[in-house]
Amino acid sequence: MAYPISDDSYSGGQAFVRDTLQALVRAGLKRKLRDLKGAPEPRMQLAGREVLLLCSNNYLGLATDDRLKQAAQQATEIYGCGATGSRLISGNSEPHRVLEQAIASYKGTEAALVFTSGYHANLGAITALVGTGDAIFSDALNHASLIDGARLSRAEILIYPHRDVEDLEKKLRSRISVRRKLILTETVFSMDGDLAPLRDIAYLAKKYGSLLLADEAHATGLFGPTGAGLVEALELQSAVDVQMGTFSKALGSLGGYLAASKDLIDYFLNCSRSFIFTTGLPPGVLAASTEAVRIAREEPEHRETLWRNVGTLRRGLGEMGFGLGPSQSQILPLLLYYKRRTMAACRFLLRRGVFVQGIRPPTVPPGTERLRIAPMATHTAKDLETALAAFAELQSLLQSPKRRTTAGESSTAAPVGVLK
Ligand code: PLP
Repeated sequence: MAYPISDDSYSGGQAFVRDTLQALVRAGLKRKLRDLKGAPEPRMQLAGREVLLLCSNNYLGLATDDRLKQAAQQATEIYGCGATGSRLISGNSEPHRVLEQAIASYKGTEAALVFTSGYHANLGAITALVGTGDAIFSDALNHASLIDGARLSRAEILIYPHRDVEDLEKKLRSRISVRRKLILTETVFSMDGDLAPLRDIAYLAKKYGSLLLADEAHATGLFGPTGAGLVEALELQSAVDVQMGTFSKALGSLGGYLAASKDLIDYFLNCSRSFIFTTGLPPGVLAASTEAVRIAREEPEHRETLWRNVGTLRRGLGEMGFGLGPSQSQILPLLLYYKRRTMAACRFLLRRGVFVQGIRPPTVPPGTERLRIAPMATHTAKDLETALAAFAELQSLLQSPKRRTTAGESSTAAPVGVLK
């Protein structure tokens, strides 16, 4: 049969691609990659000029710590660049074992299992724990990896309003006779920076015989006496069945983990498809993560500097009249409510040399568009001053009486034109 040749690649089955891209442009939701150069340090190059980085998850500055780099280099020398096999075939090197012991000890659990990413860890845990006929109870603002894991599991998904334990209890009661129940919550919410009512949730899990998975992606390295996370801060290690997290944020490296009892970890090793059917992480990455866990645990000064920086920005922005919602963490959401206004504010700050990414749907619900500000321990007092000066200019423009509006956005609150 002759292969149908066409000059127009959109004449066949790909028409939906162009339609979708065009629709995203029309909706103000088309995304593109930014061309950043340099390491994730306070100063980076973006589109040929220096910017102050204020939206990285490198909260403690560990991604560029010399000790992590050395650990990665040494492990790469010894073990090579890639694991080149799935963990259960030929990819299980010594650095895996060392990291799993380190993270289990940090989290106060019997054992731990490292995955390629936090996304893989959530998918692997949820799909192994529940399936058809079971029920998942999920916070309305949970991360996409929790949502996708829940959908893939084929369990029934009941979404409770954000942080609403009364509604969660109602939903748990309504599924009392279901075979297996699983509650999913982040501990520090990634886009709002507020905290889950984890003690109440753990109490309900026990009362209704439900499993509880706590996603500590944005708490690990930061909360609790040794920075192990919110579970440590609230001393809930024995009440949370699975502490999930990632090495890719405060720990400055890559990879996800599940920390739990020996039996649960053995179960995940045998039943989590996103663990079984993928290649292990490179040894250099694993060694860097192990060093990051050691530093986060033994050197509280990085956290202390971060919290000071968070306090400075929070105070400064508050004095300018910016609301930061319910944030109780290093994540400071500056809500602008409209996607075009948010992206215009992002561009405005960029022109003043400050890079804070605008966050739009589907990452956040429509109508809650925001700038997600994330200070780092490595920001200096001068960096924070620079940032605050740019935000002060932004605020005076947002409050300017000469607001002009853009079609499709509210005429009372969207000064897009003046931000151009
Ligand atoms: N869970 C939460 C709450 C996150 O914010 C993220 C990161 O984006 C993940 C899980 C996934 O982690 P990773 O980036 O390691 O895949």
